[in-house]
Amino acid sequence: MKKVFKKNLSNKFPTKDITFDDRKNKLPLSTSNRRRIVDLGNGVKFGSKNIPIIAGPNGVESHNLMVNVAKTLIKNKIKIIRGHAYKPLTFPYRSKQYKETMDEGMDIMDDIKKNFDLKVVTEITEIQYLDRVCRTADILQIGSRNMQNLELLREVALTKKPIILKRHFGASLRDLLGAAEHILIENNNNLILCERGVSIPHTHKDTSRFALDIQAIPALKEICNYPVISDPSHASFWAPWVPSLTLASIAAGCDGLIIEIHKNPKKSAVDPLQPLNFNQFDKLIKQSRKISKAINRSI
Ligand code: PEP
Ligand code: MN
Repeated sequence: MKKVFKKNLSNKFPTKDITFDDRKNKLPLSTSNRRRIVDLGNGVKFGSKNIPIIAGPNGVESHNLMVNVAKTLIKNKIKIIRGHAYKPLTFPYRSKQYKETMDEGMDIMDDIKKNFDLKVVTEITEIQYLDRVCRTADILQIGSRNMQNLELLREVALTKKPIILKRHFGASLRDLLGAAEHILIENNNNLILCERGVSIPHTHKDTSRFALDIQAIPALKEICNYPVISDPSHASFWAPWVPSLTLASIAAGCDGLIIEIHKNPKKSAVDPLQPLNFNQFDKLIKQSRKISKAINRSI
């Protein structure tokens, strides 16, 4: 880890929330006033008037699935496809149908990029996969469980690729920005912060593990000038709630969205209750365009 020594750094007044002292001494880069736009080229920008949507299944399960997803995105004029090839699971046990396609999954994504005008987001779970993932991905996603994996953050930052840093479901915004600071200090400003739901005592449904912290969106945007995106799919774990949470995120000022979609959600190898099917996605994109227009933004 990079060691930066500071004169006035004090831990005498530890806090849960972000103080002015934190802004000055602990979070100087993430809370600096400079407006940051993450520009992927080809008109895809996070942090400006347009709100890019990232959509796709949880995992790159098969070539066929990704082609179907890609066609749906192109039809809706969406420019970023997602799908993980290297996937950690909450529990070490897996069903036979669970597919961690690894390098083969990245080859599938290469093929998608060759045939469709799409950018690729995929999760990086371990440093050992970094070279392979970087050859394909336009944005590297740090999953919520790795938010404070500082060694991984550093190595990913050094690639200079755009990074989506997801907030851990138990972490404060102060912790999130602390993790972000580890990326920024390596001179990688291509940072996108992601709200993906937090653990709370009641999630209003037994299959819903987290609750989207809508308030985190304006709170982050108040103190930090990096793009803030929202992931209603992983927050709610429940497809019927994803449309309202998406629209609420846009209204709250998010700079992008992650939406899980699948050709046949019931057959999704992981989290089958969570992805929207293609028809639901088409409808949501239409509604999202209306809401974004109402607040002078676009999708
Ligand atoms: C995902 O994006 O598929 C994912 C597992 O996200 P998270 O790290 O937020 O759980
Ligand atoms: Mn997922």
